[in-house]
Parts: sequence; structure tokens; C-alpha cells
Amino acid sequence: MGNLLEFKKFSAYYKQKKDYVVAVDEVSFTVDEGEILVLVGPSGCGKTTLLKSMLGMCATTSGEAYFNGETIKSAKKGDKQIAYVAQEYSLYPTMTVYENIAFPLRIMHTPIDELDKRVRAMAKLLEIDWLLSRKPKQLSGGQHQRVAIARALIKNPRIILFDEPFANLHPDLRFQMRELVKAIHKEQNVTVVFVTHDLSEAFALADRIIVMKDGAIEQLGTPKEIEDNPTSKFVKEFFKK
Ligand code: ADP
Ligand code: MG
Repeated sequence: MGNLLEFKKFSAYYKQKKDYVVAVDEVSFTVDEGEILVLVGPSGCGKTTLLKSMLGMCATTSGEAYFNGETIKSAKKGDKQIAYVAQEYSLYPTMTVYENIAFPLRIMHTPIDELDKRVRAMAKLLEIDWLLSRKPKQLSGGQHQRVAIARALIKNPRIILFDEPFANLHPDLRFQMRELVKAIHKEQNVTVVFVTHDLSEAFALADRIIVMKDGAIEQLGTPKEIEDNPTSKFVKEFFKK
């Protein structure tokens, strides 16, 4: 067990006209192998930018960011060790559920027998095996996100990043999906970084929570530490809602 991700005084910027705006502001933290780390904070505080930085998808950065000891900038695109599930619906609309889940394996030129076995096993795990021949537009919101999770998990990533994946789902369904994430984390032995603005979701899932404000880390701790000892008025107010 060690650090899978390590950020040191890391910042990320967006170019706006002739200026740069700071979206992530000198954050330092680790993601430990096997944990569920949850990022919370108000809209615009930099959660998505920080996730994208973990994927090496931010163009302008400063400070240090490592995945498994290697600088993240050097990580190849489509790295099979890191998977990402977005908030917005992101399946390939013209492909069936089967082909969507199989896609990462096709890119890796996985032999067809193995591919088929893995796609069916993953679909079974997520209870979407009866949907394999459907197209994305024939799925409900919850089914859609299950397929997105299956597609992310199929490559056996070491870490999976979720960006508010259930924000568009009905509250009852969100509860179910949250339990699903817990089960997957356990069964697949995968490290999870999970962004949400739903505090009950954060407390239910997290080994540790990062509270962000204006691009910076306001507090980092276990749910209990944050609940018992909020270190600022902001954190206290945030968790009161
Ligand atoms: P969150 O996910 O917490 O809502 P974001 O990471 O999306 O926050 O955004 C952080 C800040 O960066 C916000 O001020 C946002 O307006 C800005 N931002 C995000 N994406 C871009 C972009 N592509 N270009 C310019 N500014 C951006
Ligand atoms: Mg966001």
C-alpha cells in the first residue's frame, strides 16, 4: 500500500483572453492505494479541473503531480491504469451497450474470446447483461451510468475517477448506485476518487474527504475528523446544509 497519486503544490490554469485564471491553487495531497477519496466543494471550486489533472488533461499546470511515481504529464493518453466516468452521458451513441463496454479492449487489441468473456462478466457484475444489444438512447439514466462504469472498469484500471456520476439521477437511484460503487471498490480492489456535491453521498462513500474552496484544499480528513473538527467556518457551514 502506497501513494498511487501524489500532488505537491500543484496548480492548474485556464487561459482567458490574455490572462490565466487559477482553477486549482497549490494543492498538496495523496491518493492512497485502495482508498475511496471524495472531493466536495461548491460549484466552480476546481473539482473537475483537479480530476482532469489526474488524467493529465490540463494544459497549463505548475507544481508536481505523480501517478505511481511517474510525472503525470508523461502518462500516455488512454492509459489503461486510470479510468474516468463523467457526469454527462458519455457513451458512444451509435454503438450497442456491448460495443461500448468492449471498446477499451478493442483499442488494446484484446483477443476476441477473452474480450467476449470479459465484457459478459462485467455486464453481469453491473446487472446490465440483459441490455447488451441496446443502443444508449434506449437506456434509462441509471442504466446509462452503469454501462459507463462497466466501460471504465473493463480495462482493470488501478484507479477510477468519478465526476459527479449520479448527479442527473433520481435520489432513490443515487442511493442504489452509491452502494454499487462500494461493492465495486471492494470486489475489484480498485482505488476510487469520487467527486460529488451530495454530502450524504460523500459521507457514505469516503475513507477520506477533501473539501475544496476557490481551487484550494480547505480541509482534508476522514468523515469523522471533518464532522467533529471542521477547521474553518466555511467547512462548518458547508456541512450544515
Ligand atoms: P467544479 O468542477 O468544482 O465545478 P471546475 O473545475 O469545473 O469546478 O472549474 C473551476 C474554475 O475553472 C471555474 O472558475 C471555472 O469557471 C473555470 N473553468 C473550468 N473550465 C474552464 C475552461 N475550459 N476554460 C476557462 N475556465 C474554466
Ligand atoms: Mg465539475
